Amino acid sequence: MELLLGKETALKIKEQVKNEVDKLEVKPKYVVLINKNDSSSIGYVNMQRKNATSLGIEFESIEMDDSEEQYIETIERLNNDKSVTAVMLTRPLFKGADEKKIISHLSSLKDVDAMSSASLGELFVGSSDYLAPCTAEAIMKLIKAYNIELKGKDVLVVGRSISVGRPVALMLLEENATVTIAHSRTSDLNDKLKNYDVIVAAVGKAHLIDASLCKEDAIIIDAGIHYLEDGSIVGDVKPSDKVKAISKVPGGVGTITSAVLMENIMKLYHKQRG
Ligand code: NAP
Repeated sequence: MELLLGKETALKIKEQVKNEVDKLEVKPKYVVLINKNDSSSIGYVNMQRKNATSLGIEFESIEMDDSEEQYIETIERLNNDKSVTAVMLTRPLFKGADEKKIISHLSSLKDVDAMSSASLGELFVGSSDYLAPCTAEAIMKLIKAYNIELKGKDVLVVGRSISVGRPVALMLLEENATVTIAHSRTSDLNDKLKNYDVIVAAVGKAHLIDASLCKEDAIIIDAGIHYLEDGSIVGDVKPSDKVKAISKVPGGVGTITSAVLMENIMKLYHKQRG
């Protein structure tokens, strides 16, 4: 069984972003809105700060209250601020928040993780310059880095979230795979696993998918990341030597995701300048 690694792809993306930023007179600026009461996102935001500043991208985080009004006002201010290139909202926003409504205020020209319906609409209709949600794009980059054939292959995406499952299913379809999407109401998932050439796991449940039940030559891309009480980090897939390849957790999709975020900032920078 081969382990699929994201490090090399991530380094290439970051190097490219750094070279691009170095040549710019006006540097890109990335702003993250983080809820004051959400301590779980602090580490993630600090990692993004480190990543962005190491590439020459300006970084700002804004602490938010549990207030729809404040979120919307801030988003609209950032939409109109020409010095701001990209905006991300850490989720969940806050208990009881109407996330769709709040995110709908974010301009697709600043929506770095393609969270809004306007951004996802561009992906849905296959616009040439669409921006994909970072994790979905990272999955596709890992597949491409290993030259995994998708044309005519039977691919199963487990998970149908707006941020990972659905967008990646569309992107796989664009690559001429025959795509099936499974979710929490799918019957006999374990039994179905053996029918697919490629399986993309984005379920958010540790070890939910047992790789030993997949085809012998199956390739599995695991987007999951779970921090267990014993200190170990695992994915949505329980690995098995039986299959052809599985992406490493940690060190696979997640490693590329943080680089894609930086790449998306540059895409927005150029989009905003026509
Ligand atoms: P999510 O919003 O919680 O969605 C989970 C999806 O999995 C839902 O569509 C759900 O189905 C489905 N599901 C749940 N239990 C299932 C089951 N027993 N059988 C089949 N399907 C099931 O999660 P997400 O935000 O898409 O994230 C998915 C995974 O990606 C998580 O492990 C997360 O940690 C990871 N992630 C990784 C990165 C990265 O950079 N690597 C970034 C973001 C997320 P229903 O729709 O029916 O509820």
